[in-house]
Amino acid sequence: MAVMDVVLYPDDPLTQKAEPFDCVGPEAPQLAKNMIETMDAHDGVGLAGPQVGIAKRIFVLCEPDQEPMCFINPEILEMEGREEGEEGCLSMPGIYAKNVPRATRVRVKALDAEGQPFEMEAHGFLARIIQHEYDHLEGILFPDRLDIITRGIVLQDWTEVRQELLSASGE
Ligand code: ZN
Repeated sequence: MAVMDVVLYPDDPLTQKAEPFDCVGPEAPQLAKNMIETMDAHDGVGLAGPQVGIAKRIFVLCEPDQEPMCFINPEILEMEGREEGEEGCLSMPGIYAKNVPRATRVRVKALDAEGQPFEMEAHGFLARIIQHEYDHLEGILFPDRLDIITRGIVLQDWTEVRQELLSASGE
């Protein structure tokens, strides 16, 4: 297992649409494990391939006190309801927005890390994580879901935090 480097917004491939897996090979379980370890190391609840430099349609997530899950080639089949809630992102550490709109219920199908298909329904916080991570596969980050004024404020804050982070790490 290994902790991977997390790509910071707006570096590649974060703002690009990720490619599907043609087939889920033997490397997929190891990739999922490394992504879960990376997510845990940063106290995150979700992490998508583009955030670790892999422009492929894969994400992992973990709800508190639950087993982590891996979604490969996910498709959102149904979305229902709307509520605003707080979100952050490991690609924009230290930045949060309170009013990110998401559906309250989603139905999603995907392959697990072994390539086995599954389908599930999620509500509330889990539904929010799934939508946030799915957006990463489309090159969309949570500020893109905000109204244009709030988005501008969040991105301005991020520009400052990013500069501090990069100068602290000697880049
Ligand atoms: Zn994110």
